[in-house]
Amino acid sequence: MPAKALLRPAQALAEARRVPRAAQAVTGELDVAAILARRDEIISDLDDSGQLSWLHSRGVTLIRGHGRLDGERRVRVGDDVLQARRAVVVATGSVAAIPPVPGLAALAPWTNRQITTAALVPDRLIVLGGEVVGVEMADAFTSFGAHVMLVEPAVPSQRAGRPGSSSARATPRCTSVRSRTTSARPSTRSPTS
Ligand SMILES: Cc1cc2nc3c(=O)[nH]c(=O)nc-3n(C[C@H](O)[C@H](O)[C@H](O)COP(=O)(O)OP(=O)(O)OC[C@H]3O[C@@H](n4cnc5c(N)ncnc54)[C@H](O)[C@@H]3O)c2cc1C
Repeated sequence: MPAKALLRPAQALAEARRVPRAAQAVTGELDVAAILARRDEIISDLDDSGQLSWLHSRGVTLIRGHGRLDGERRVRVGDDVLQARRAVVVATGSVAAIPPVPGLAALAPWTNRQITTAALVPDRLIVLGGEVVGVEMADAFTSFGAHVMLVEPAVPSQRAGRPGSSSARATPRCTSVRSRTTSARPSTRSPTS
């Protein structure tokens, strides 16, 4: 949802510009602050309380806290111990992997979650990973006026044939790099400034 909210404005603008007579009606550039504000609205500022009545109506009890397995069919959340009658489903999701680039982790880079909820548009951005989220975010932030470089490792078959260690396979090699710039710079860089 946040990714799509960031992508859609530039796509809509481009579509309108392709249509004769509609194109003439497009007189301005993207308003980045408004786009980020709309993104926040779509994701309810990451506040999920609006879903609570829906859970309640279905007889689901929500317990907020860090859960850990504490025995067979038993989960501990703080001081509470919950006993399941049939089974415990572990659905704890995933987080982005930080590639083993020396010094990268210490810089606390944005992950896919931080970039989709970013409150500002940096002048320059390097996106590591050219799959769906990487390409979408490179596209969105280019449309916001950032100078974006997208870095994708060599294809596995090329890297696998390379002599050397597993680290050579694990580290992005920057063999496939695309960069795009746009001269259309939005006037507002950050909705928070
Ligand atoms: C940037 C981004 C863009 C995406 N875009 C799309 C898209 O356009 N379309 C699409 O279909 N999918 C998209 N996805 C993927 C989609 O968000 C995931 O597939 C989906 O959220 C996975 O759901 P999940 O429930 O498995 O995990 P999550 O949504 O990660 O949920 C796991 C939950 O478990 C909680 N948790 C973790 N550990 C514990 C613990 N010990 N105790 C209690 N709770 C815990 C976490 O806090 C979290 O709330 C996107 C993902 C990202 C990151």
